[in-house]
Amino acid sequence: MASVSILKCGSYEEREVVQIMNKLLDSVGLDKIKGKKILLKPNILYAAQPEKAVTTHPSVFKAIIRYLQKNGNTIFAGDSPAFQNQEAAAGKAGLKQVADECGVPWQDFTQTAVIPSPEGKLVKSFQLASILNDVDIVISLPKMKTHSLMYYTGAIKNLFGLVPGLSKSALHLRFPDRDNFAQMIVDLNLAVKPDYAIMDAIVGMEGPGPGSGKPRQVGLLLASDNVLALDMTAARIMGYRPEGLPILSQALACGFWLQAGEEINYPLEKAEDLLFKDYRLIHHLHDASMFRDYMPDWVFRLIKNLTVKRPVFNPKICRLCRECARICPAKALFIEENRVKVNYQKCIRCYCCHEICSHHAITLKKKVF
Ligand code: SF4
Ligand code: SF4
Repeated sequence: MASVSILKCGSYEEREVVQIMNKLLDSVGLDKIKGKKILLKPNILYAAQPEKAVTTHPSVFKAIIRYLQKNGNTIFAGDSPAFQNQEAAAGKAGLKQVADECGVPWQDFTQTAVIPSPEGKLVKSFQLASILNDVDIVISLPKMKTHSLMYYTGAIKNLFGLVPGLSKSALHLRFPDRDNFAQMIVDLNLAVKPDYAIMDAIVGMEGPGPGSGKPRQVGLLLASDNVLALDMTAARIMGYRPEGLPILSQALACGFWLQAGEEINYPLEKAEDLLFKDYRLIHHLHDASMFRDYMPDWVFRLIKNLTVKRPVFNPKICRLCRECARICPAKALFIEENRVKVNYQKCIRCYCCHEICSHHAITLKKKVF
């Protein structure tokens, strides 16, 4: 039976995090991992200070590194934000400093290799960070967050960062449909087969995540050797029905991590005692993709255009940094008369622009309904 360890942790004070993390990682059997090469993949969406709750917190990152190093493991770490200088983004998040202090080489994911995904449904191979071929163990270190496109982001979605830089945009363009995008993420996880996930949920993000939401005190750390079990648990604690979330439902359907109806064991804190009733979630009532099979393409596109949230730009907040235009996979954004303009006919509603705008100048709004 899959198992997820959960412990309460009230703050990022280093001594408290270390004490709780040691107990948590013992519980998932990481104390038996010795002399291995391990890749840690924290969540760095863009350059943001730890208190913004966009990135995995440096105290959590450091406690995990120190724990694994005690057993003679060699640690590597890295992430690949879509367009920013990787090391600068990791520096602002406080993660690069921790890596340097602990002697962990920060990985530049620009070196890539073909990683096969024979069990993948839509994608049979990925161009991913080549370090994956050099390590024995991969650990996903997600932050608990809402996500405007996928509703929830955790351990499985976090591994999308193994796709180098702007190549992520090409995958958004190739899989503009939410369900297909979710299946692609599942296929990527079937290629990587992450060994463990450790989630920073001391402070999570609620509202319009993963970049523009608000920090939310949750007070938890979670760990598991089953990425789907961890994500199902975290999503449930936030207040989601996990089986209804695109990535989690497709990961469940593939049967690799969990069987339908399989129970999850909680050896420490019980998930059912920790459920939030007022976490600000992303709701998905008017998702046009559910009509796709029942109508011609042009009608579907029209309905999608009217009912699915679209990015709206606030020129009073926008700094004209152009980062949204650079990341837009559909090339739907352009600058005219000192404003960002959108070609909504081209826009595929991937929300990469919203995700990446660190100035929070973009909101997602429906045209009607
Ligand atoms: S909307 Fe945001 S990302 Fe785009 S140009 Fe303005 S400030 Fe930059
Ligand atoms: S405008 Fe924004 S939501 Fe639309 S395709 Fe470009 S990045 Fe995606």
